Amino acid sequence: MSDSLSYHFWNSGVVIRHNEESEKIEGVDDGVIIHLKSGKKVNADCLLYANGRTGNTDSLALENVGMEADGRGLLKVNSIYQTSQPHIYAVGDVSGYPSLASAAYDQGHITAQVIIKGEASTHLL
Ligand SMILES: Cc1cc2nc3c(=O)[nH]c(=O)nc-3n(C[C@H](O)[C@H](O)[C@H](O)COP(=O)(O)OP(=O)(O)OC[C@H]3O[C@@H](n4cnc5c(N)ncnc54)[C@H](O)[C@@H]3O)c2cc1C
Repeated sequence: MSDSLSYHFWNSGVVIRHNEESEKIEGVDDGVIIHLKSGKKVNADCLLYANGRTGNTDSLALENVGMEADGRGLLKVNSIYQTSQPHIYAVGDVSGYPSLASAAYDQGHITAQVIIKGEASTHLL
């Protein structure tokens, strides 16, 4: 599928390079040169670096409550979204996969039920 997409993108002037890693980014007067570990160089007007989503947890001082985020700033939760501190819950993107709006909504719903009623409605789990 990715090969097929690459082929069609190529026809529209978009070049996809698979399995490449950047080694160095060099700013030049008229743009940027990306040096790849394979030895290739990509010249471009500008560079957009997309590194996925990360949790905005680094300024929360989690260590004060004995919690720790992973390398992407995400918090580990159990099936009812409790973190390592049972009275602290984490829902939505900050709890990782699947990182979708609909999931964040459901997770919030489940957690609210747990907090208010002490248990999650089974049809939501
Ligand atoms: C480009 C893009 C396209 C997407 N497309 C889809 C899609 O088609 N369908 C889909 O279901 N999902 C999609 N998503 C994912 C969806 O947007 C997220 O899963 C969803 O918004 C997660 O909700 P959330 O409440 O966990 O986080 P967010 O929506 O990010 O809300 C977190 C909120 O917390 C605030 N905040 C952060 N740090 C602090 C702090 N220290 N103090 C106070 N407030 C703070 C932020 O300002 C923000 O308002 C997309 C995401 C992106 C980036």
